[in-house]
Amino acid sequence: MKNSVAKVIDLSKYTKELSNLFSSSKNILLICHINPDGDAIGSQLALYQFLKAKGNNVSMLSPNFLQEFLLWMEGIDDITIFIKDRKKSRKMIEEADLIVMLDFNQSNRLGEAEDFVKASHAKRVIIDHHLDPGTFAELTISDPSKCSTCELIHELLCIINGAQFLNRPYSEALYVGIITDTGNFEHGAYSSRTFRIVADLLETGIDKVKILNLIYNNFSAGRLRLEGFALNKRMVVLPEYKTAYIYLSKDDLKEYNYVKGDTEGFVNLPLSIKGIYFTALFIEKDNFIKLSFRSIGSFPTNEFASQYFSGGGHLNASGGEYSDTLSNTIEYFLKALKEYIWRFEDKP
Ligand code: 5GP
Ligand code: MN
Repeated sequence: MKNSVAKVIDLSKYTKELSNLFSSSKNILLICHINPDGDAIGSQLALYQFLKAKGNNVSMLSPNFLQEFLLWMEGIDDITIFIKDRKKSRKMIEEADLIVMLDFNQSNRLGEAEDFVKASHAKRVIIDHHLDPGTFAELTISDPSKCSTCELIHELLCIINGAQFLNRPYSEALYVGIITDTGNFEHGAYSSRTFRIVADLLETGIDKVKILNLIYNNFSAGRLRLEGFALNKRMVVLPEYKTAYIYLSKDDLKEYNYVKGDTEGFVNLPLSIKGIYFTALFIEKDNFIKLSFRSIGSFPTNEFASQYFSGGGHLNASGGEYSDTLSNTIEYFLKALKEYIWRFEDKP
């Protein structure tokens, strides 16, 4: 079994080089992954706040559009969207002499920006907490023992800065990344260290109730109805495999006035069923099916995702995709599940 508990990494091995790159670069570009989540945007905005405060020339790029629930964050309007502003984005990549990639470790997560980032003459840095990083950067700081890229960013910047760097927008950005990547401290690699960091963030006066409301209590009625429909009509429970899955077609989404982000978190819901340790969510897109996986315990969803669905992620939270119809994808998933599950003495 390749995946085990992640080792804690000595970050001071990297901080000198990272700090030198920050101070020797004229144009620093921060890029998050496609379909950025709270941790991708949180780590990007936090590093942006830090570098700006230190007098660096820094800009931000996202491969595609941002989710509604993050648009209130300070600095968010400074993020250029590649697919909205291709010419400007390509120029930003060309002009950068340092590109920092946050919260991903596979180059295809750059979407349309991938080829331009790969062709760039800039030094490239990956800062991330997923397993098995790819080799497309000169410096890769990968620490899967961290609950979020936000936690990793904060620890790196503490060393570089010689003391905690804290201000309100920075703390808010980190807080968003930490709560979204742990499902508000429910899953993922959060630890006593995470809570110490959060305590320091809260002391900067950020309004944790306001942030929770902006992130979790900010949905449309349609979204809540879609959740009810998904659980009632589109959830299949397979007790013999300790597995449950939910599938939603394009027509289902249309009926409930789906907007981007509305199915966020649905994949976690069946984990609350007694005896269910592995869940999958199938969302029908225009030309493919997007999949999300979650598990409780040792079932490596990321290996399952990479072996069958060209994907990856963390042990307990991963995703992938499959280019076929919804029903064929479900059929393929069930075959894969049967084939894969017997490799584990300790089934999910
Ligand atoms: P979600 O299910 O929330 O979309 O993604 C959960 C985790 O899986 C994220 O940390 C993300 O990095 C990873 N992930 C989701 N989709 C993909 C994918 O298509 N490819 C890879 N490599 N990782 C993915
Ligand atoms: Mn993350």
